Amino acid sequence: MDVRDGFIEAIGDTPLIRLRAASEASGCEILGKAEFMNPGGSVKDRAAWWMIREAETSGALQPGGTVVEGTAGNTGIGIAHICRARGYSCVIYMPDNQSREKVEILETLGADVRVVPTVPYSDEMNYQKQAGRYAQSRDDAVWVNQFDNTANRLAHYESTGPEIWRQTDGTVDAFVCSVGTGGTIAGVSQYLKQRKQDIEIVLLDCIGSALYNFVSTGVATLSDGTSITEGIGNSRITDNLAGADIDWALQVSDQEMVTMVYRLLREEGWLFGSSTGVNVCGALEVGRKLGPGHRIVTMLCDGGGKYRTSLYNREWLAAKGLHPG
Ligand code: PMP
Repeated sequence: MDVRDGFIEAIGDTPLIRLRAASEASGCEILGKAEFMNPGGSVKDRAAWWMIREAETSGALQPGGTVVEGTAGNTGIGIAHICRARGYSCVIYMPDNQSREKVEILETLGADVRVVPTVPYSDEMNYQKQAGRYAQSRDDAVWVNQFDNTANRLAHYESTGPEIWRQTDGTVDAFVCSVGTGGTIAGVSQYLKQRKQDIEIVLLDCIGSALYNFVSTGVATLSDGTSITEGIGNSRITDNLAGADIDWALQVSDQEMVTMVYRLLREEGWLFGSSTGVNVCGALEVGRKLGPGHRIVTMLCDGGGKYRTSLYNREWLAAKGLHPG
């Protein structure tokens, strides 16, 4: 029998899917790793499990304990599922610029959700710092700390990277990916570069983030502007991203991303989130740069159902000066 035992075993081993229009437009094979098919609905289920397992193994998290995290949402959703499955309480700090649906899902899963004002990382009231302080104030709590906890990167080194290698029979030419904590790009690239030194690793960044400048100039200065993307972009180099062997970077604008997610919806029947839109734009651009005949892998990070009132709401988009294309 081919059976997975419960929520934890349902994480990972996601399909690799050929994206038709992007492949045809670039003459390359553009393949997306279907992370939206994880049981909590995103790429972050892997990291959530690796980090909680590490806390269990080290003894920091005891039976019946409390898991605390600051998250844009998807890590929290993964954590909240796992807390239910393993009998932990869950407290989530979230900035107030994330989709309403994510908050509702977290509450449905039984998490204690604390939506706090969106302020820079340098501010002591930043959601990540509030989560850390709250966990410290309780004896039974652990702070997951996804940005600097390298069990996040390890999840992708031990699972996502090997899966991509196996699913492409080692024929992958480039891995292209947007970045939030950096766990995905750092872990996957570490594994793939060990197997194939000349693979191209391309970081994709949204406007208003510092990562494009970091890869291009070595200095993490914020680019001008803002972005409606969720879960990606960063103002600093996390412990997960530090030392990652990235070849080059590309910036993707919100309008390019919006046009792409609506094209994927209309022409191919996909309902993806914004970071996936960035990823497919980037993969297409890398395909054009490398030339026909290459095999490019990117991540399909999450589905669009959580963004019905934002990315998939035309009035909301119009208020941001964006249109479906
Ligand atoms: N896409 C989405 C939808 C996410 O929630 C995240 C995680 N913040 C990412 C992409 C980025 O992944 P990572 O944190 O591994 O860089």
